[in-house]
Amino acid sequence: MRLILLGPPGSGKGTQGDLIEDRFGFPKVSAGDLLREAVEHGTPLGLKAKKDMNKGELVKDSIIIDLIKQRIHKQDCKNGYTLDGFPRNISQAESLEKMDSDQNEIAIDIKISNSTAVERLSSRYICTDCNNIYNIKKEDFSEEKRCDRCGGKLIQRKDDKPEVIKKRLDVYHKKTEKLIDYYRKKDVYRAVNGETSRKVVFKKISSIINQFNN
Ligand code: AMP
Repeated sequence: MRLILLGPPGSGKGTQGDLIEDRFGFPKVSAGDLLREAVEHGTPLGLKAKKDMNKGELVKDSIIIDLIKQRIHKQDCKNGYTLDGFPRNISQAESLEKMDSDQNEIAIDIKISNSTAVERLSSRYICTDCNNIYNIKKEDFSEEKRCDRCGGKLIQRKDDKPEVIKKRLDVYHKKTEKLIDYYRKKDVYRAVNGETSRKVVFKKISSIINQFNN
């Protein structure tokens, strides 16, 4: 089973991907995490991607396709995986089918408004070690706080700044939203309301996965 999480930045794809991994055992494959890792390690691929990422633009298809291909061909993805942030345009979706045609797929679109996305992203901090996500508006957040999960340092992502957030949302509406029709035509598209709590969203997503699995 290949689960594709669609939805604008800030819709909770990463959080839901983790919950899905815990409950159903499908490893989360996050395109953004793979790219940030490559940037951090200063690999040639990472160096090429960095500029576009900091501007909120999509990186070149060939870069992200290579990273995803290597990742999903690892042993732990054999029985299924969840994709967070890939594909982000039609050409990536077509490449995905070619690189792994064996899996059944579902595309789950987590819907939120632009204003919710801006609000969530501008108050988001992430752990530099395990990518766990925090909201600075929550009561237990302080400047000194470390990650609850691994003790890592918490930072705001460079692309979670207002002008870059706007660009990322534009890119989502112009390029990634075209995938809605693409997956609708394949009859594997489902939408959930992402404006509710993570627990409620996860319940909806779980029931969709169970329907497809039966
Ligand atoms: P994310 O963590 O999913 O918000 O992704 C962060 C950034 O990584 C995006 O704004 C893009 O610059 C880049 N990126 C992530 N996934 C893709 C993709 N599938 N195609 C192109 N660029 C991507």
